[in-house]
Amino acid sequence: MTFVNISVDVERDLHSGDYLGVTEGLKIFEKIVEKYKIKPTLFVTGEVIEKYGEIFKRLQNNRWEVGFHSYDHKRFDKMDNEEKNNDIKKGLKIFRKYGLKVNGFRAPQHSIDENTFKLLKENGFKYDSSNASKDILQLVHLIRGSNKSIFGFLRQFFSKSNPYKKNGVLEIPTSALVIPFVGYSLRILPLFLMKFLFLLLKRRKVIVFYCHSWDFIEINDSLTYKICKLDRFLNKLDKILYFISERSEFVKLENI
Ligand SMILES: [Zn+2]
Repeated sequence: MTFVNISVDVERDLHSGDYLGVTEGLKIFEKIVEKYKIKPTLFVTGEVIEKYGEIFKRLQNNRWEVGFHSYDHKRFDKMDNEEKNNDIKKGLKIFRKYGLKVNGFRAPQHSIDENTFKLLKENGFKYDSSNASKDILQLVHLIRGSNKSIFGFLRQFFSKSNPYKKNGVLEIPTSALVIPFVGYSLRILPLFLMKFLFLLLKRRKVIVFYCHSWDFIEINDSLTYKICKLDRFLNKLDKILYFISERSEFVKLENI
């Protein structure tokens, strides 16, 4: 049996830096996942919790998982060890303030590195879900210059696709087979291709699909939103979740 996780990275909105994805988008996402009785995993930045902690308290009470996505979305491979540790501690303090239980971490833009694993262990995390194994889309970060290291890209691209232990922390990679199984692909590719990708990935133990809180709002300056407007994206998401629900069980990452 393949287990499928639906995860959402919850952060400030793309381009505008607003929080409409948090305040409006998540409500739309909630309606869709409720339909298929999915309990998703959210990776939320500390600064979003600082502003909207009550939303996440309610969702965790409804058995959704709430994980950590850094304090304010800086790349982890661009910080030194002390900065990383401060970011984690500052973030976790805010989660604790709202009584939120945290087991997992996803680094902004998949920027996980060796030292971060050590810090995750020290700070009590059970797992990380940052490695973008076999994901060609990560080349975008190299082209845009947000990630300077071709080796970092290659290391992730050729890393294991199934979960494995690293420095005492379980790594649960996001799923891709050259094409990533993510919201962006769902927007730009025809639905049959996403279904085909899912069937290919189904040979693995765990499939991790992810999208962003800002996938659930209109973003006018985005080219991908011009290709696929919000309504069409929601319709495709509904259809792929139905397709998955007929063939697999859904799981929260903390339960793997
Ligand atoms: Zn993010």
